[in-house]
Formats: sequence, structure tokens, C-alpha cells
Amino acid sequence: MHQKEITKLTPETILPLTCSRIGTCCHGNQVLINPWELHLIAKEKKITPKQFKDLYCELGGIRLKFNGKKDTRGKSACSQYIDGFGCSLHEGRPLACRLFPIGRQVQNNEVQYIHQGKTFPCLDGCSEVLNLPKLTVGEYLEGQKANGYEAAQDFYLEVMQNLADIAFELLLDSALAESGDTETLRLWRTMSQESPEFLVSRIGVEWLNALIVPEINEEDSVTFVQKHNELLQIKIQEKFGNSKTNQEFNKASVIVMGLTIHLAHGLGANPQSLVELWINTAKSYGAKE
Ligand code: SF4
Ligand code: SF4
Repeated sequence: MHQKEITKLTPETILPLTCSRIGTCCHGNQVLINPWELHLIAKEKKITPKQFKDLYCELGGIRLKFNGKKDTRGKSACSQYIDGFGCSLHEGRPLACRLFPIGRQVQNNEVQYIHQGKTFPCLDGCSEVLNLPKLTVGEYLEGQKANGYEAAQDFYLEVMQNLADIAFELLLDSALAESGDTETLRLWRTMSQESPEFLVSRIGVEWLNALIVPEINEEDSVTFVQKHNELLQIKIQEKFGNSKTNQEFNKASVIVMGLTIHLAHGLGANPQSLVELWINTAKSYGAKE
């Protein structure tokens, strides 16, 4: 697969990181949000997370709509961008916006800061940044108050893995895998290849709400995600704890893997490669496809 060229950064890397505030990156971009970010943004807008999701998000609540006025390059503004003013939720803006033009990737629990391409992204549209003060990456991150947002993002990766583990248990610790079932892994793979819109219709509104707009009123990011993790586990137990037949275990494992995949999309992870890995693991424990 073609990998986009990236530039790796260290906290000491010095870059023209003082924003010109022209809003170039608030047009024609992609901003993924996790459920805690959605909660904070909605609070900033003084509406409920569900209202915000329905009004301003797409792909089942994991991405901000970019359906505002087009800029001179013909690129549509973020739904939260106000022409001549800037971001309408500046204090509650999500991690992706706090970090831009820096990106953050987590591999084997190692965090790496990067920027896309060989040349600094802001130069494409805001070249005047070259005349503004330069900052180290470390100084920039501190100024963006990204800590709590990074902690939430990393914790949600754990929630994703916890959900995957439950999908495994429903397949392997029941009589389902032993029965020679091939349907469950086939559906895991199919879901990993589907668009988020299609996946959302498969999961259903009740589960989507539990995943994307949980009823939690908590300011601290880690406590929020911790509570969310618990609520999801309680709901799964309530709904599927009494499963008895292979058909019921199949349905349960597929729904929980569907939630896992939808969360993976929202976290910017690659569901297809994750699911291939999980299918191989399940097969090594006796599941079939
Ligand atoms: S592209 Fe860079 S300089 Fe321009 S508005 Fe975005 S962050 Fe600021
Ligand atoms: S949320 Fe705010 S900072 Fe982020 S893209 Fe939208 S308008 Fe820009």
C-alpha cells in the first residue's frame, strides 16, 4: 500500500509554528473526533452531544462536517468555522485542530509526532508563517494544552482493544467457534471493509448512541473514558449476558466487533489491518472462516 510521505519530529525540532490565523486548515480538511471530544464541543456550543452529532457530524458522529462557505481555493469550511472570525469552538476544539500542522501517531505504545510531506504543511496556503516567531514542537504542544486530549485518545485505543477482546470471548468462550461457525469471522472482515455509514446502519441507533454519545457528565478526560468503558461493558453484559444459542453468540460477537470497528474509524486507526490481525489470532485459537 502506498504510504504518504511524513517528516518525523522531536520535541526540540524548531518550526514556524506560530499560526497566521487565516484559517486555511479549517477548509477542505478532515477532523475526526472521539466521544469525549464530542462531549466537550457540544458543551462549548451549549447543546447536547446528540444534537451536535446530528447537526454538525457525519459518518455516525466521528467526523466534523466540512459544509461551510468555500474559500478562494474552492475548499469548503468546517461547519464550526465563522467567516471573518475563525473557530466558533476555539476553547473546546478537538485534538486534531490543536495539533495541526503536527500529527501524532501511536505505534507499539510509542508516540511519534510528525508532519505530512517533506515541506511544512502551513506553507501551502499560509506562507506568511515564515515571518512569524518560530517555536519548538515541545513549546507548541504545551501552548495547545493537548495533554488531556492525548490521554483521552490513547485511552480510547484501550477501549477499542477491550471491545475487540469481548468480541473474541463471545466467539471463542462459547460453543460458537467449536461448532465450526464460519459466519462470524466472515462478518468481522466484511464490516472492516464497509464504509462507516453502512456499518452504522448495521450497528443500529441504540448501540451507536452508547458508543458515540454516552450519558456521562464528566470534565476530566480520563475519568470520562473510564466511565464510558464501564458503561459499554455493562450494556454488553445486559444485552448479551444471557446468550445461549450459537445464533445469539454470533449476533453478539458481530455487534461488538462492529462497535470496535466504528471506534477504530473515529480514532484514525486502520480497521482493515486490525481486523485481519484479530481474525488470524481467532483462527490460531480454533475459530474458522
Ligand atoms: S495552515 Fe497553519 S498557519 Fe495557516 S491557519 Fe492553519 S495552522 Fe494556522
Ligand atoms: S473545529 Fe475549529 S479549528 Fe477545527 S477545523 Fe473546525 S473551525 Fe477549524
